[in-house]
Amino acid sequence: MKKSIVLAALLFGGITVFAQTKDEQALKDIYKSSLTNAKCYPWLDHLSNTIGSRLSGSAGAEKAVLYAKAQLETLGLNKVYLQEVMVPKWVRGEKEIGYLQLGKQKIDFPICALGGSVATPKAGLNANVIEVKSLEELAALGEAKVKGKIVFFNRPMNPEFVETFKAYSGCVDQRSSGAREAGKLGALAVIVRSMNLRLDDFPHTGATNYGDIAKEQRIPATAISTNGAELLSKSLRTNPNATFYLKQSCETFADVLSYNVVGEMTGSEHPERIMVVGGHLDSWDLGDGSHDDGAGCVQSMEVLNIFKNIGYKPKNTLRVVLFMNEENGVRGGKEYEKQSNKNNENHIFALESDSGGFSPRGFSIEADEANFNKISSWATLFEPYLIHKFVKGHSGVDIGPLQSNHIVKVGLQPDSQRYFDYHHAANDTFDAVNKRELELGAAAMTSLLYLMDQNDVVK
Ligand SMILES: [Zn+2]
Repeated sequence: MKKSIVLAALLFGGITVFAQTKDEQALKDIYKSSLTNAKCYPWLDHLSNTIGSRLSGSAGAEKAVLYAKAQLETLGLNKVYLQEVMVPKWVRGEKEIGYLQLGKQKIDFPICALGGSVATPKAGLNANVIEVKSLEELAALGEAKVKGKIVFFNRPMNPEFVETFKAYSGCVDQRSSGAREAGKLGALAVIVRSMNLRLDDFPHTGATNYGDIAKEQRIPATAISTNGAELLSKSLRTNPNATFYLKQSCETFADVLSYNVVGEMTGSEHPERIMVVGGHLDSWDLGDGSHDDGAGCVQSMEVLNIFKNIGYKPKNTLRVVLFMNEENGVRGGKEYEKQSNKNNENHIFALESDSGGFSPRGFSIEADEANFNKISSWATLFEPYLIHKFVKGHSGVDIGPLQSNHIVKVGLQPDSQRYFDYHHAANDTFDAVNKRELELGAAAMTSLLYLMDQNDVVK
């Protein structure tokens, strides 16, 4: 009796050790492939430097679709295809002009129209400025104090938050809803402080949302750099009657046809179970979208390249999806979900990278308790690669619409300290992405997909 217990313990112990070794070895192979033989960095170079910005409906976005498809076709996948999706088309037009008139003196400010904003009148507009820190403060002022003025939203991102995305979500209502709310009170335009923790001269764009406000009642919305916001605030304190001149000529056109780009390795055991990895192929128009989200796209493509290089054939179907139109509509994510429902597809796992191409720190996980615990139990496997963060939280905007029973959704969490230096601004360019950090992110993603593939979701 005792002997058999000892024997069983040895056997099971042996199996455990063996299993760990196998996974440890797989992660080693994955990281080695990514750090010595990856294509993600040259892919990003092409997307950023040859194609450039990829705003939905632009020529750049269409070139990126064809380029990504062509590159996926070199990986020997089972399927590569385009999924049609209608997307909005918003065009910035001429360079925006913004200055404060102080007597005979003009102070120029670095500004840029917010995505989706309407234009000013052709000759521009000129008005007094009223500064507020929040939508609540705006509402308290009421129509009497706001009508006929430009509202200046100047609440900075809170520097106390180590997790900068928290600071971003605590601020972004000014950008997304400021024009809508100020317009209701009769304001002529809004100026919004850029969502950036650093003081610099780059205005950061991003979507503004008018809700159901009629077209002719919409007011122009512009972003001002953080240095610009500080200077404007200071100037208004000493010259509250100064007027601000604003001119922008952006325009929204009819929706146009675009595509999600999809590539697939069919599962060797469970082809009907789908694991998705992806990012969004569109970007804003100011930089070339290297961090947001060129990085996430090439990392997702790299996952399939790594599996090919190490000879790993997933048991479940692995699908890379490069979503179109995350920035100003999420039409790609919604269309993917719609088609998936129509085809009765069964998604067990989705992983998105859309937080910049910086050193990976961990994963933000949307799952039930059992699956969250399961993923967290792999922490020791990731320790050698300095991945330590397994938290419950938001996964990604593009995979947000995906719903299946027991689906596990995860967002890659890179170090976020520098992300908002570049986010939606002209300096989000290729030189801001570090090759090794990008590759480490791709390796972390591949490792998690490997482990999910090996250890089915808990049902
Ligand atoms: Zn993004």
